[in-house]
Parts: sequence; structure tokens; C-alpha cells
Amino acid sequence: MSRFFSEKYSTLKAYVPGEQPRNQILIKLNTNENPFPPHPDVSRRVAEEVQRLNLYSDPECHSLRATLAKRLGVSPENLLITNGSDEILNFAFMAFCDDSRPAVFADITYGFYPVFAAIDLVPFRTVPLREDFRLAPEDYDHAGGTVFIANPNAPTGLALSREEVRGILEANPDNIVVIDEAYVDFGAESCVPLIREYDNLLVTQTFSKSRSMAGMRLGFGIACESLIRDLKTIQYSTNPYNVDLLAEAAGVACLERDEYNQENARIIMETREWAGACLRELGFELTDSRTNFVFARHPAFPGDSLYQALKEKGILIRHFSVERIRDWNRISIGSRAQMEALIRALTELLNDRT
Ligand code: PMP
Repeated sequence: MSRFFSEKYSTLKAYVPGEQPRNQILIKLNTNENPFPPHPDVSRRVAEEVQRLNLYSDPECHSLRATLAKRLGVSPENLLITNGSDEILNFAFMAFCDDSRPAVFADITYGFYPVFAAIDLVPFRTVPLREDFRLAPEDYDHAGGTVFIANPNAPTGLALSREEVRGILEANPDNIVVIDEAYVDFGAESCVPLIREYDNLLVTQTFSKSRSMAGMRLGFGIACESLIRDLKTIQYSTNPYNVDLLAEAAGVACLERDEYNQENARIIMETREWAGACLRELGFELTDSRTNFVFARHPAFPGDSLYQALKEKGILIRHFSVERIRDWNRISIGSRAQMEALIRALTELLNDRT
């Protein structure tokens, strides 16, 4: 830290993203990326759009909002497009949290939430997940702040039903509830239809996972018009051109080929079930994941040594040093061939141990 760094950030601990190695890693299963490239129409559309890069992008993202609104069955006024869903989550911390409305989220959830709270100088309170990592909706009754729930949760992979989320919304009429649906397309129920009924609901989604565009940085929020207007005030006060020209064009092309994304999500879920069964056979314990990753532990292999041993074999997975989940690892679902290589590597490692 330089001597000029603001005192207000002296204790700030930045979010640590999963490694993006440039070499030596053969198989990357650490950041929940989609193993399939975007539809070829995306690159065609982006190539055309490059000719217009002399112009600023549309701060309102008119064409992407119109396309997305049709897909989701909402109005364009219910949508705000952002630079990845991380940005809309940060906007929500800025717009809807303060000293009288702390952020409230699970003890084990997306690691960026406490960092957003820190950078935005808002207090937060954590609610422990149950012993089996289940998020109990009743633990959020009258939460006393703005609730953030990753659904499905990360890194546990567990999902609440739409009716369970409805219960949380009903028990918090005076608190905003943010449902982070980054992984919803891999077998969970979306709460988007509830935005018509609840003025305290913000749902966030992303193009990074089921839509194969993590590198494009495109996310969005869905909510009633007045919440979207608040978030837009934050957008226009930080970076009106938060979504670049290429990203918006890529988003439209990607949605026009959404059946391609859905088919890939189906394959990923199928691969998850296959890999899950192989891992159980090798002695792993797994949660019931509704995401494009599994969360697993092995009685004979501490989480960090498994992470290290796989890394030495060129396979990168994600280990978190948080005490409660230190025995566990999060493994993204890659292609079938990548998962077969993972299972082979684990079989070798476990054989070497016995
Ligand atoms: N929410 C959760 C639960 C995530 O795991 C991630 C991915 N790291 C995000 C949001 C943000 O993803 P992106 O900014 O790529 O949309």
C-alpha cells in the first residue's frame, strides 16, 4: 500500500478471482467457465460491430434489453445491463445498503459479497448455513437489512425452490431481496416471474456461465421499474458506458441462438451427473449441485492437498481456505473428455495413497 492509499480502504481485502494461468495447465476447472465456445453467430456479429468502435456504446443497451425482455417475458424497463453480474451486484450494494440497512448473506456464499460491502463502506451480517450447507429460508425472517442470496449457492451448489424464495420475500416486505442467479440454468428454478408480484425483489443473471461468454463481461438485473431506476442512477453516476459496443452486439447474437446455449447446459448437466457418480465411486462426498460445478470432499484427502496434487498433474480446481469448507473443493464441469481426464487423475492419486 502506498502512503497515498485512502485510510478508508486500509483494511480492504480485495476479492481473489480463480487463477487464469497462461501456461502449463492442461485442464482448467477452477472458475466455472463453460467448456463450449459461444455460437459462431456471436463472432460474426462482433466482427461487424468492430467497424463502429469509433462510436460510444449505447448506455441504455436498447437492442439487448429488447431482445432479453422478449426472452424473459418482462418489459425492457424491468432490465438493467451491466459489465458482468458482478457489476449489478455492486450497484445493489451501493443502492440498497447503508448503516441502517446492512447487507445480510450466508456465511458460505459468493466470496465477493463481503468485498462489495467493504468497498462500498456498508456493514454486513452473515447467517450460517445449516450443518449440511442447506440455506434455511426461515433464518431470513425479518432479516433487518438487504438480503443477498446466490441461488443456486456457490460454492455449495445447492438451490432453493421458487416457493422458498417467495417465503423469504413475504417475510421481508420492507427489505430488498437480491437473488443472484448466476448458475440458475443448470437445473434450478428462476425467480424472474416473481418480479411482477414483489417490488422488493432484484434478480441478477449473467452471460458468463450458461451463455459461454465469461470473457465478454455481460450481466443484468431484473426487477420492478422503480428498483431498476435506482440502479440506473448508480450506473450513470459511475460509468454510463458500462457495457461496450461489442458486448451488447454479442449479447443480442447469443440470445438469438439461445437454443444452442440450452443444449450445451443440458450436456453440462448430463456430464455433471456422470462425473458425480464416478466421484462417489472413488469415495467422494458431494452436495446435490444444480450448477456447472460440483462441491466435493474425500475422507482420505484434505482439500488443499488434493488441489495441489491435481495442479501438479495439470488440472486446476478451486480450493477455499475458509475454515468451514477447507476439506472441500469446487470442481467446474468441463467437457466430457476433461472430466474423464480428471477421474483418471484422481484414480491414480487415490491408488498412490493406498
Ligand atoms: N455470482 C456468483 C455466485 C458467481 O459465482 C459469479 C462468478 N464468479 C458471479 C456472480 C459473477 O459473474 P460475472 O460477473 O461473470 O457475471
